[in-house]
Amino acid sequence: MQTIDSSKLIDHTALSRAAVSVVKRLCDNDYSAFIVGGAVRDLLLGKRPKDFDVATNATPEQVVALFRGSRIIGRRFQIVHVRMGREIIEVTTFRAHHDDGAPQTAIKSHKGLLLRDNVYGTLDQDAARRDLSINALYLDPVNQLILDDLGGLEDIRKRLVRIIGDSATRYSEDPVRMLRVVRFAAKLGFSIEESSQAAISKCRHLLADIPAARLFDETLKLFMAGFAAPTIEHLAKYELLELLFPETLSAMNDPSSRGLILTAMANTDARVARGKPVTPAFLLGALLWPAVTARGRDIASAGTHEGSPINAAGQIVITNTLQRVSIPKRFSIPMREIWELQSRLEKCSPKRVRSILSQRRFRAAFDLLLLRSESSDELKSTVTFWEEQQLLFPDVVGSLPAAEIPKRKRQPHRRKRN
Ligand code: ATP
Ligand code: MG
Repeated sequence: MQTIDSSKLIDHTALSRAAVSVVKRLCDNDYSAFIVGGAVRDLLLGKRPKDFDVATNATPEQVVALFRGSRIIGRRFQIVHVRMGREIIEVTTFRAHHDDGAPQTAIKSHKGLLLRDNVYGTLDQDAARRDLSINALYLDPVNQLILDDLGGLEDIRKRLVRIIGDSATRYSEDPVRMLRVVRFAAKLGFSIEESSQAAISKCRHLLADIPAARLFDETLKLFMAGFAAPTIEHLAKYELLELLFPETLSAMNDPSSRGLILTAMANTDARVARGKPVTPAFLLGALLWPAVTARGRDIASAGTHEGSPINAAGQIVITNTLQRVSIPKRFSIPMREIWELQSRLEKCSPKRVRSILSQRRFRAAFDLLLLRSESSDELKSTVTFWEEQQLLFPDVVGSLPAAEIPKRKRQPHRRKRN
């Protein structure tokens, strides 16, 4: 293992004190422990790490025995959450690749997918089973050293995202690694090393085997971290987007729909950069809106459907998306409300102004209208109308009580008249 002095490479004062204490206590108890993964990578790039992970040769049970208020979580990977003040440090035990260790603790599907992976190993083995070389750097904060066995430092210098080992094998073990490659390339502005790139086209179909719940978690990481615009461009380029959101396939090939989606992503990124809250409901609502309108048009022209074509289209788009990415109801319901409000906004009916302004989703729906108006002159006057109405009735906007669906007052029980 190559050992490099880290004192000139990273700002040690930017380290989490909690993470350093966890490492120190493990070392004081004769275990080895390092800060690892994203935190080391981000510090080397002069960025503020999102969180600090620790890797150690202590088993989860041994870690729990050392730290009060710690607990073991996870099934696929067992990790320990150590609470230190307000921080939670994730502590993982060095793991070996499934082939290096006790085979009975690593379970693989017939397609090579790793189903369970709790084989403990050495530091070298732990580095080799990580996804990317830039994520396999180990920092010893006490002696100020970085351990680099897989060329991670060199790849950081070259600004390169590189899968460790044979790309196709590593993607087959865990197809989500393809999404991670794209996410880090977009987030860091790095290029993707050639074979890591080439294997994606061979392995992309394997994402179909990943549970929809895990893909939803990954979707949030892809789109909510402040780099949604470059991420979606990469996802589209490597034909991964349609595996997550099949409904977006034709939208991304249509310039105005693509424009709407990219602007929605860029706006979200700008909000994240300003520390403003962002909601997956708006983001996914905008991402799927072109599909909803396309399906809505088909339904309207078939003329067989009762009620609003957009509502029916929204239902179909959500149902199809849920097959791949399990969007929880707390997001899919507001998405549908945002879609349904579009036609009500377009009608600009003076009688309905107050009722529409008071909808809880009015602001999000108006934001989607704004995005749509960028490629439609007709909608620009609709936007102006609603801008004026918001100025006229500022107190009404979004004022509908939390329940948002106006409930009918319960009538006192009346006896049936004969
Ligand atoms: P960030 O938290 O900034 O998104 P990170 O690199 O810390 O980036 P995590 O998802 O927190 O990413 O994972 C922590 C570390 O675990 C990674 O750096 C990587 O070494 C390893 N890892 C995570 N997911 C995988 C995976 N699917 N396959 C192999 N190693 C992984
Ligand atoms: Mg992390």
